[in-house]
Amino acid sequence: MNSSEIIARSDRYLFQTYPRIPLALVRGDGTRVWDADGRSYLDFFSSTVVTVLGHCHPAVTRAIETQARRILHVSNLHYSEPQSRLAELLVTHSFADRVFLCNSGAEANEAAIKLARKFGHDRGDGRFEILTALGSFHGRTLATITATGQEKVRVGFEPLPEGFRYVPFNDVGAMEAAVGTRTIAVMVEPIQGEGGIVVPKPEYLPGLRELCDRRNLLLILDEVQTGMGRTGTLFAHEQAGITPDIMTLAKGLGGGVPIGAMLATERVAGSFPVGAHASTFGGNALTSAAAVAVVQTLLGEGVLAHGRAMGERLRGGLERLRATQPTIRDVRGAGTLIGAELTMPSASVVERCRQEGLIVNATAQTVVRFAPPITVSAAEIDEALAIFDRVLRS
Ligand code: PLP
Repeated sequence: MNSSEIIARSDRYLFQTYPRIPLALVRGDGTRVWDADGRSYLDFFSSTVVTVLGHCHPAVTRAIETQARRILHVSNLHYSEPQSRLAELLVTHSFADRVFLCNSGAEANEAAIKLARKFGHDRGDGRFEILTALGSFHGRTLATITATGQEKVRVGFEPLPEGFRYVPFNDVGAMEAAVGTRTIAVMVEPIQGEGGIVVPKPEYLPGLRELCDRRNLLLILDEVQTGMGRTGTLFAHEQAGITPDIMTLAKGLGGGVPIGAMLATERVAGSFPVGAHASTFGGNALTSAAAVAVVQTLLGEGVLAHGRAMGERLRGGLERLRATQPTIRDVRGAGTLIGAELTMPSASVVERCRQEGLIVNATAQTVVRFAPPITVSAAEIDEALAIFDRVLRS
């Protein structure tokens, strides 16, 4: 099938819920992808900030091939080796004591929300409310659109579950002022991704940690977008020198296969006894095997450091462009999650970049999101910068 056939068939039969650009991809290798007509592109979007190790990373492909020959799916009423390995790896390399495996970011956040509520219920002090940040994004289920601090995702889906309130991001004082007698948790992204790559001040996360400790609240970090090496460390909160009580992961975790995780300390995890939560496919043998390969690869010598170096090269290049291109208002981010805020809507720039062979993404109206795999090469970054420069000049 060529691109126009794929696009026509998709538009005819699928729900039209996505603002798609006319690009039908059939193959990927590292940072490069090919469309159905044989044209190649640099994927600086990592297919929605997912392929943190690039497309078809050999270790991930090998793990999937091997597991597919053994067993694809094992019931969560039984045990599977890939799941046990993944949970051990995540616990060993994080603050957490226990892992709940699921299939997506929204599900990981649902699990976190349920766990926080159940923790409050078990404590018996009538607390269930979760404070989240304006501009945040936590997913598309009913509870996670309610947790999301953007009205546009909630309109028309009322009545929404109760127990969420929104507070300005990057303002510990505002968060403290919002804490009420019903509040059980504070839930934020370390860097707001969909909100436009909004990086808080360095003292924000430590301030929230201190607030949560002082007011006996849980700190939930949504690292669905920032986790798995995306911001230069395995998890973004490491750079703030704090740990949460609950953390959620997805996107990069499976290297391209759908898997999510909710991690917590033992104290909190105790509120999820047998029967409290479940998922048929959560931590499926195939997806867990892929995720094990992702985590092991990320932990390999020099891999995260390479991502940091490439992130700095990209950011430095964008900063240099900014000095000559008045349309770039701001450059911000961490690791290989970088936003270039423009003085105009970013969608047309993103489309021009695609026509020139560079896939980036428009978010928060005026921001161009750059999220290449952390395995990206210096030459690929320079090529992407040259295309972006050319597009902005035209
Ligand atoms: N949380 C954050 C921070 C996200 O960026 C996203 C997706 O963009 C989600 C949650 C939802 O993840 P999913 O689309 O896998 O449900």
